[in-house]
Parts: sequence; structure tokens; C-alpha cells
Amino acid sequence: MQPFDYLIPKDHAEASALLAAGGGSVRPFMGGTDFLIRARGGFIRPQSVVDLKVLPGMREIRQSPDGWLVIGAACTMNQVAAHPLVLAGYDLLAQACNSVASYQLRNRATIGGNCCNASPAADTAPALFCLDAVAETYGPAGARRIPIADFFVGPGRSALQLGEFLTAIHLPPAPTGACGAFNKLGRTKLGDISAVSVAVYAWEHDTETPRRDWRIALGAVGPTPLRAPEAEAALAADASPQGVQRAAELTAAAARPIDDIRASAAYRRAMVAVLARRGIEAVLAGIARAGLQAVPFGGVPAGSVSPTGVLREGRPEQMIGGAA
Ligand SMILES: Cc1cc2nc3c(=O)[nH]c(=O)nc-3n(C[C@H](O)[C@H](O)[C@H](O)COP(=O)(O)OP(=O)(O)OC[C@H]3O[C@@H](n4cnc5c(N)ncnc54)[C@H](O)[C@@H]3O)c2cc1C
Repeated sequence: MQPFDYLIPKDHAEASALLAAGGGSVRPFMGGTDFLIRARGGFIRPQSVVDLKVLPGMREIRQSPDGWLVIGAACTMNQVAAHPLVLAGYDLLAQACNSVASYQLRNRATIGGNCCNASPAADTAPALFCLDAVAETYGPAGARRIPIADFFVGPGRSALQLGEFLTAIHLPPAPTGACGAFNKLGRTKLGDISAVSVAVYAWEHDTETPRRDWRIALGAVGPTPLRAPEAEAALAADASPQGVQRAAELTAAAARPIDDIRASAAYRRAMVAVLARRGIEAVLAGIARAGLQAVPFGGVPAGSVSPTGVLREGRPEQMIGGAA
């Protein structure tokens, strides 16, 4: 690996100035789990790196006065997954963080690095899409906020400009009783990048006429993570077993997979339908268990759906290696 200098900025402005002055030859550095592999492979040849983890707030998780959850970009996967504020309202994100690689790697890998690497397979991305996350950045023009769906621009490309870096992820207040399920499929049982991932999230509105909103987001089946809005709308109208099957098919139709080393496009699309159905069933089961509805929507009897995909004793289920 080509040697490089390691720089510690004293504040946000200096970090931005160092990155801007260096052009592409000075790169942000967080956990290094993506960066070092690419540098070792010669895909990037930086002259120096700027360690952003040291900047104020980068490793903090806190609630803002308006009720949003603010997760510093340098928080590790393990830190996010175990944090009480995350577990209280954003369990879907905890499931996604817990699914990344191994425990050891999750001690280094950061949520910000996962987003900035901008891989379509980034495991936190589908959860962040479902949760309507907003990325906070700092750059030569100061701070700005970018909806997460606009942050991912293409494979390996984010919305960040030269000299700009991610400082935090903001999550809006979680609706009461919201329920989510994250499932992924990789080539090996543990520690593999997703060949397909599906996040499902739903919550009910406390209105006279019961109404449930759905979010479904996919990873590794398009140039960026993506939502499946037609499936979401179909589920809101009909969450009966037939409606669930229809939504799973619509989710698969929303995928834009390619053939690559991890899986064929056809296999990916088929697995999207499987993981979507299991995720939807898991969320319905979670909602039913939480007792949030006296009368089931769309004729889904409480307890008749598979519990697959929801938290089991506080740990996420991962469907890796041949879910069918
Ligand atoms: C064995 C192995 C298994 C893996 N398994 C998974 C998996 O299951 N799921 C998954 O999603 N990923 C996986 N990964 C990928 C990786 O671990 C994650 O993407 C991780 O979250 C990256 O975080 P990091 O802090 O290490 O980022 P780094 O490697 O430090 O940075 C990643 C990239 O983002 C840039 N960057 C970092 N922080 C910022 C910032 N704040 N602002 C602007 N740019 C920034 C860096 O310059 C670099 O280009 C795996 C990697 C390995 C090596």
C-alpha cells in the first residue's frame, strides 16, 4: 500500500480546508474498513487522510430539542445498535447495524463511512431511507442538510462536494408503535456484503379512521438504495395475505438489479420478493403483538402471520445464504 500522511484537524473548518486544498488526493478517514481495502488494492492512492472522528459531536448520539435523533457520523455500528435512544424508537436501524460484517468490524465501521462509501449495498441505507433520515454535512459553504435519498447519487458516488464531509445523520421523531424489519441475503452466512437487502417499516396514525403508512426500501438491487412506493401504497390499501403477496411482487418490480459477482439479476429480483414478503409479515406480526389494533387491517388475524424477521430476544434475524 502506498504510504500516506495522517492528519488530525483541529475543527470542522480546518478539516474542510484540508480536504478542499488537496483535491481528491486528501481523503476523509473514519473507521477505515472500506478505505484501507481500496487503498491496499490500489484503487485509491491518497497522499493524506484527514481523521474526522476527532471532531466535536462526531461520536455522539443525542436527542435534539425538537425531538429528532442526531447520530454523529463517526458512531460505530455497535455504538448505534446498542444505544438506548436508537433501541427505543429506531429498532430498524439497530437491526441493520447489527447485520454488518462481524462484531469486531462493527467496532470500527461507522454509520457515516457506510453512507459516504455510497455503495448500493450499504446495509444502513435501506433503514435510513425508511426512517426519512437527513444527512448533515459541513463544507466550504458551511453546514447543509440533504435528504438521505438525495445523498446517494450513484454507485460509489454521494452528493458531497469537494471539501465537504458528513457530520451527522438526523432522524425525525419515531411514530408511536412503529415497527420495522431488516433482512439481507449474502453469499456467506456471516460478514458478507448484501446481494439483496430489504427494510420494511410501518406505523399507524392515531386517527378516527385507522390508517397505516408503510415504507419499503431496498439495497444492492439498483445503482443506489431505493424505495418501492407502489408496494408501499398497495400495502396501505390492502394488508391481507393476498395484499402482502401483491406488495412483495410490486417490491420486486421496483428493483433494478444487475448480474455481478454476488448474484445474478434474476436471483436478486426473486429474492427481493421473498425478503419483502417476510419483512412485511414480520412487521404485521410485530404490530399485532404490540396490540396496536383491535380490528386487523385487511383481514390479517393477529398472530396468524410468521414472526420471521422481527427481533428475536433483542437480536436481529439475518436471512443469509438461500432464503426461499
Ligand atoms: C470484511 C468486511 C465486511 C463488510 N461487511 C459489510 C456489510 O455486511 N454491510 C455493509 O454495509 N458494509 C460492509 N462492509 C463495508 C464497511 O465496513 C462499511 O461500509 C463501513 O460502515 C464503512 O465505515 P468506515 O468508518 O470504516 O468508513 P471508511 O473506510 O473510513 O470510509 C469509507 C469511505 O467514505 C469516506 N468517508 C468516510 N467518512 C466520511 C465523512 N464523514 N464524510 C465524507 N466522506 C467520508 C472515506 O474517504 C472512504 O472513501 C464490510 C467491509 C469489510 C472489510
